[in-house]
Amino acid sequence: SDHKLEYPKTPDHMDWSTYFPAFATTTDSPSTSQPAETSLVNAADTYPKKLSKEVEVVDIGCGFGGLLVALAPVLPDTLLLGMEIRSSVAEYVQHRIAALRTQNPDTNLYQNIGCLRANTMKFLPNFFRKGQLTKVFICFPDPHFKHRKHKARIVSTTLNSEYAYALRPGGIVYTITDVEDLHYWMVQHLEAHPSFQRISEEEQDADPCVEIMRTATEESKKVERNKGQKFIALFRRLEDPPW
Ligand code: SAM
Repeated sequence: SDHKLEYPKTPDHMDWSTYFPAFATTTDSPSTSQPAETSLVNAADTYPKKLSKEVEVVDIGCGFGGLLVALAPVLPDTLLLGMEIRSSVAEYVQHRIAALRTQNPDTNLYQNIGCLRANTMKFLPNFFRKGQLTKVFICFPDPHFKHRKHKARIVSTTLNSEYAYALRPGGIVYTITDVEDLHYWMVQHLEAHPSFQRISEEEQDADPCVEIMRTATEESKKVERNKGQKFIALFRRLEDPPW
């Protein structure tokens, strides 16, 4: 349940420095003129430390972190965040990242990935400002097969508006699933949204992140072993229409 989920009051209240310590600035200067009343890790009367760059890529329901680990060296100058609702799984990914950092002491490798326990269906706008993100990955989301469970799906009209809010124009939503029905559901809901346009198959195949998403997540490996199908669709965040 959500009572144990921590989330910042606003993105400015979020302290990312424990997730991306290599990118934390040394001073505790206030990010706004207001003190942070709530924050994930700071005491009530301190300001969150600033990062030298912002999180730009998010893996929604990152599971055991395979995508993050594979993308880390491919996008070395970008901060990538996995968000996972199961606390034990999020902790596992945090330990996995810490171990990879320790094993690569002389490089910046794996300093650019982090994992946060969160329910992305509830608090996404608390973590990210409008237009902050360039990529959102939704890899093998739970299918919630039964009709009455469809409201639990991670792609929906309401949630798509939150992804549109957090993504900047030109940003991309990546989706992959082995469940054909869910694939059509995601395509239908994202295509129907005025902020998104499906990306052509040629452009999709030319994007190096697609091959990584197809092969590197734990779920994609499982589907591979079971010789299952993988359905992929990408959507570009469009410019907002002029008022
Ligand atoms: N993306 C990973 C992969 O491809 O290997 C994991 C796929 S797994 C089938 C779906 C994951 O989404 C699970 O780890 C689950 O705990 C997580 N999840 C489900 N609902 C979520 C939510 N509302 N917020 C964050 N994570 C969620």
